[in-house]
Amino acid sequence: EKTCEIISVGTELLLGQIDDTNATWLSEKMATLGLNVYHRQTIGDNRKRLYEAFKLAQSRSDLVIVTGGLGPTDDDLTRDAACDLFGCNLETDLFTMKKIEAYYENRGMNMTENNRKQALSFSGGTVFENEVGMAPGLCYQYDETVWYFLPGVPTEMKWIVDHRLIPDLYSRDFLQYQLYSRELNFQGIGESTIEHELIDLIRKQSNPTIAPLAGDGHVTIRLTAKSVSKEEADELLDSIQEQILSRVSIYYVGDRPNTLERQIIERLRNKNLTFSACESITGGLFASQIVSEPGASDAFQGSIVSYTNEIKENIVNVPIEILERYGAVSEECARSMAEKSRVLMNSDLSISFTGVAGDQSIDGHSSGTVFVAISSKEGSTICEKLTLIGKRNEIRNQATKRGLKIFLN
Ligand code: ATP
Ligand code: MG
Repeated sequence: EKTCEIISVGTELLLGQIDDTNATWLSEKMATLGLNVYHRQTIGDNRKRLYEAFKLAQSRSDLVIVTGGLGPTDDDLTRDAACDLFGCNLETDLFTMKKIEAYYENRGMNMTENNRKQALSFSGGTVFENEVGMAPGLCYQYDETVWYFLPGVPTEMKWIVDHRLIPDLYSRDFLQYQLYSRELNFQGIGESTIEHELIDLIRKQSNPTIAPLAGDGHVTIRLTAKSVSKEEADELLDSIQEQILSRVSIYYVGDRPNTLERQIIERLRNKNLTFSACESITGGLFASQIVSEPGASDAFQGSIVSYTNEIKENIVNVPIEILERYGAVSEECARSMAEKSRVLMNSDLSISFTGVAGDQSIDGHSSGTVFVAISSKEGSTICEKLTLIGKRNEIRNQATKRGLKIFLN
């Protein structure tokens, strides 16, 4: 099995000015291809330290992917440091040179001397043309190790990997198998119980692997098969899926988790009922959560984000007496918001959220106090007072989730 190493170049990475999303993306990509990423390094724009990092990678990895530091400026030293290790020279790649010249000519701009740098490649190596940018990718084999050098710009880096690097890996017979995953979702059973039911399968797993993950109100089991073909992977996955379902099929909800929003929409759709929302503290989060579910419009009509008292009074028609007497953060206001919005949007049901998420108390209520009310056409309005703990957005998220749960019951 081949081992892979990823090296990210750029002082800005070390200073924490940008996130190393290239390395994350590459790691995931290589893992999917079945390559073992055993090491990652992050190095600043310093020729000596780059050389040392490259030397270390050469000594321990079959495949090294370097991103960044190929640009035209003086601090782009990746090429030079690599030459220090490989003991090779740089030569101008004519195709890239023409491309750079044409770029400047077409724009009527003067090409500066350092732009020529981007056309430099390793003598004895290969150049991967970059169709989405100027700097090409470079490939060089030094002893048994294959090196790839890619631009730091994420879109260009990804394009070269998908269109040049991966085909190159295949042509070198570096890739034997790929990873294929499948997810099984369960509800009404806890992670530890499901693990207990499947413990012998989990213990003897190798291919496919079985990984239980606790989700939000559900448990997901991720099956991953290593295989040379999709057909073979499907066979492996089908077989283990069958064994798992023979034990816990009554909790199985399918390949997508059965989210609260999905259950709400399905239930209301089946009863031919519609619903809407009126949101203050959640600021539209409830609606956003609902519409993330395909087919939400079968039951969901809309949400009014009534953040200020003026909007509550003038748009939602919450009586001014309620706002003055009880305040916006009150059971009375929550009930009124739910009732008035249900009438306004002509829905069968409407849910409202009002509360405090900031540091300061409002109307005598401390942060984390949230009132959720649900009004239904039959006439009854229920209201629940929640006491939540956390920072502003945590409270907003929790309020939304609790609202979804209350709504479902
Ligand atoms: P080019 O050769 O295309 O000019 P380069 O190889 O010189 O690029 P850098 O100058 O290091 O690459 O970076 C170019 C841009 O790519 C920067 O704006 C930076 O934000 C981004 N970038 C560089 N490295 C990474 C990384 N590891 N993860 C995410 N973004 C990165
Ligand atoms: Mg640069």
